[in-house]
Amino acid sequence: MTNQYGNAYLESIVPIVNEIRQLKKEKNAVVLSHYYMSPLLQISEDQGGISDFVGDSLGLSLEAKNVKADNIVFCGVTFMAETAYILNPKKNVYIPDMDAGCSLASSITAADVEKLRLEYPGIPVIAYINTYAETKAVCDICCTSRNAVKIASSFDSDKIIFIPDKFMGKNLSNSFKSALNKDFIIWNGRCEVHEQFLENIDSLMTTYPAAEVLLHWEVPDTTVDMALAKGHGIVGSTADLIKHVQDTDIKQFILASECDLGATMKGMFKDKQFITPCITCNYMKKINLQNTLDTLRAIGTEDEYKYMISLDPSIMEKAAIPINKMIEMS
Ligand code: SF4
Repeated sequence: MTNQYGNAYLESIVPIVNEIRQLKKEKNAVVLSHYYMSPLLQISEDQGGISDFVGDSLGLSLEAKNVKADNIVFCGVTFMAETAYILNPKKNVYIPDMDAGCSLASSITAADVEKLRLEYPGIPVIAYINTYAETKAVCDICCTSRNAVKIASSFDSDKIIFIPDKFMGKNLSNSFKSALNKDFIIWNGRCEVHEQFLENIDSLMTTYPAAEVLLHWEVPDTTVDMALAKGHGIVGSTADLIKHVQDTDIKQFILASECDLGATMKGMFKDKQFITPCITCNYMKKINLQNTLDTLRAIGTEDEYKYMISLDPSIMEKAAIPINKMIEMS
């Protein structure tokens, strides 16, 4: 394992990692980890870690659909674990902490979407994947930050209702105004991590004038506009940002996204430098090695309900429609 934690700490976690690896075999389980998990949860099995797959929301959704093991332990937040369960309902899906929420997902309910539909009859509703199953169940299609533009373009309507991310909706609308030729009716949800990338990015751009800025779609539109106007930034999904770093010769980047994505990128691109205000998602950080181990220990026991995702079957059926439509278009 790469050592950013100190030897004493690494020695203390070796028994936990070993037990997780053993229990995964015994209980026929896989671990799926999001890029915003702490780096220890992203180290793959073949590198001595615990993860079977690391990805962004779309990558994890696609992977979850094809998992063959009986049990999926999802190291991410609950709306993601719900999506995994909807896509592969014959498997058991567990999350190490049920309180791993998301400020975007909790900003809107199914009843809110129904009110929007009454207010704007006939206008299609696109739900960012960061929504709970009940909300997805009343939307026309889902999208992730990776496929949002393609999906928004697919509707003939000149108006789109986009939920729940205000900044992502504005950024999409601003960036593709002429190509999309659509008005966006946008919900007022915000990611409490990405909304914090404001003057801190401007000041880092002054300190590191040669650095390119990597901006996630969920960053405020004012920051995106400022960085793009200064001529050296790109806005995109997590996967877009990683691919851009891979494809360019530029060596220094300012990252406007979750702190541990910076650590992940440092591990992926050892010859490149990533500067970030290091703002972490407290929901993602509820998941750690210890509660991942606790989850695996609980599988097949009377305690497993504490970690197991369960959804109303009719909600699952309805929510599967917009998710699968998105996957078909991805
Ligand atoms: S980083 Fe933002 S969008 Fe992602 S889980 Fe955390 S609060 Fe939600």
